[in-house]
Amino acid sequence: MKILEDRIRRDGVVKAGNVLKVDSFLNHQMDVELFNEMGREFKRLFADRPISKILTIEASGIGIACIVAQHFHVPVVFAKKTQSINIDGEVYSTKIESFTHKRVYDVIVSKKYIAPGDHILIIDDFLANGCAVQGLIQMIHDAGATVEGVGIAIEKGQQAGGSTLRSQGIRVESLAIIDSMDDVTGEIVFRQQ
Ligand code: 5GP
Repeated sequence: MKILEDRIRRDGVVKAGNVLKVDSFLNHQMDVELFNEMGREFKRLFADRPISKILTIEASGIGIACIVAQHFHVPVVFAKKTQSINIDGEVYSTKIESFTHKRVYDVIVSKKYIAPGDHILIIDDFLANGCAVQGLIQMIHDAGATVEGVGIAIEKGQQAGGSTLRSQGIRVESLAIIDSMDDVTGEIVFRQQ
């Protein structure tokens, strides 16, 4: 998606450790007009899928997911990071290792908000190793619901998350795929899509 790539080139900052900072428009300050264009594009890409709900993970996926959901006219559920796993059976849970914080979180979704008949589109800001998305998929499967696809703003194509998901037969649509980035020169190379 050209406007997203242009914005990443203009305002993204490449950090050591293969981290891209996009705090000025995506995951600290948020450019809602850009999110709206992204929502329109996800709606076009997944127009053939019967989406009943959008699932994301706190915190930085929530803003994007809310704007995307307006294009699908469905609710958003966000998986919560928690310290205390509730063991009374009211939640689906998984463990997710954070790429940016290098720690493992317990993540939960209330059983009230994902039902076996749901057709779910997962939305997140970044796809790196795929741990976050795989955790969300596991909870969707635990609920007996259907994963219709995964919509990502920025996929880091040099990390395995996207190719692993696609090899599992999951439809992944990323609006910008980065093939390489250099924290010394700041150069970012996008995959031609
Ligand atoms: P994964 O679970 O695919 O390894 O990583 C995805 C999660 O890590 C995303 O939800 C995102 O919050 C965070 N993340 C991964 N790579 C980056 C990055 O380069 N920059 C930022 N800002 N977040 C990232």
